[in-house]
Amino acid sequence: AEIWQEVPLAPPDSIFKLTAAYKEDKFKDKVNLGVGAYRDDNSKPWVLPVVKKATSILLNDETLDHEYLPITGLAEYTSAAAKLILGADSPAVKAGRVSSVQTISGTGANHLGALFLSRFYQFNGKKQVFLSNPTWINHYAILRNVGIEPVEYPYYDPKTIGLDFEGFINSLKSAPERSVFLIHACAHNPTGVDPTQEQWKAIAEVIKEKKHYSFFDSAYQGFASGDLDKDAWAVRYFVEQGLPLLVCQSFAKNAGLYGERVGALHIVPPDAETANRVKSQLSVLQRSEISNPPAHGARLVSLILNDAGLFEEWKRDIRTMAGRIIDMRNELHRQLTEVLHTPGSWDHILQQIGMFSFTGLNPAQSQKLIDEAHIYLTQNGRISMAGLNSHNVEYVARSIDGVVR
Ligand code: PMP
Repeated sequence: AEIWQEVPLAPPDSIFKLTAAYKEDKFKDKVNLGVGAYRDDNSKPWVLPVVKKATSILLNDETLDHEYLPITGLAEYTSAAAKLILGADSPAVKAGRVSSVQTISGTGANHLGALFLSRFYQFNGKKQVFLSNPTWINHYAILRNVGIEPVEYPYYDPKTIGLDFEGFINSLKSAPERSVFLIHACAHNPTGVDPTQEQWKAIAEVIKEKKHYSFFDSAYQGFASGDLDKDAWAVRYFVEQGLPLLVCQSFAKNAGLYGERVGALHIVPPDAETANRVKSQLSVLQRSEISNPPAHGARLVSLILNDAGLFEEWKRDIRTMAGRIIDMRNELHRQLTEVLHTPGSWDHILQQIGMFSFTGLNPAQSQKLIDEAHIYLTQNGRISMAGLNSHNVEYVARSIDGVVR
């Protein structure tokens, strides 16, 4: 008998399928609102000026070679990355109780974090992790790959197009003690809906009472508000409260380094001795998976984080990206409300933050936008604000108006 006869054909990844359909479309004014990557005002990918500068510094550095990095990555990168998310003056960093490992971007951090939990977390009963409903779709597969069952907690309320705070809190309360909750640190994907600081405090209180473990996914630090510290607020607050947690970090979005795969996993145990043991096991896991992480992207980010001048330039570039996205939110909202008087409330477009917005459009309306207006978005009505620009926002607003009337 032939081998592989039993292998079924897998369906194409829905986001990549959407991009392919967009590329084939010959319509001149087509718009891609599916893509989860930043675009400039001319719909082009944007290489951050600070990244260009850091690249030329690396190119001219005669001391660099192509040897392997250590298993846990470039040390000056991981330590600077830990300070970026936990805070320059983080007591956890100062106490040496952060185990940081360089990973294959945010996806790799999620995987390594999940793998570590699967091996070493003392699950209370079932081996499961709670995911927000909805969440980044890859979370499900990443958990299942390491034998963890994904279960859902309420997060998004379609009635208010906002946070289902009650539902979230109630599920934290009713979950068994020491459950693991995967939490988006900021700019929740796909909804763009984040808790307020008051809500975060209430969430942290229940997590503390129930001794839950927080699995933070931070893929958009700086991208949400334009301010790196503000977007790290929830993670830092949880650390301050002494809650056990880990953070998955990605530089894909905030440094525009999508293809370089620069990320880190930071586990924050209660003391330095435990952090040391944890890191030793992370190193063993990493060795069997990728041996050593890639060097180039980590060197770029390390240069930017460890040089005061470049760091300031990076912050300016981040403000450029976040600012353009916020401008697009304002303009789309203005078109729908003041110009077109589109039925319904559209204030959620202003309230949501980060790359994505849940428009509240249903699957039929979303499909109609694709079929009739050549505007590509996912069936759940999620649009990437980065796909909007000064040339197409009016057209998009008119088309949305058309499908909701
Ligand atoms: N987590 C979330 C919530 C994301 O949206 C993404 C990117 N879409 C990632 C993790 C990982 O992205 P990457 O592997 O490119 O860093």
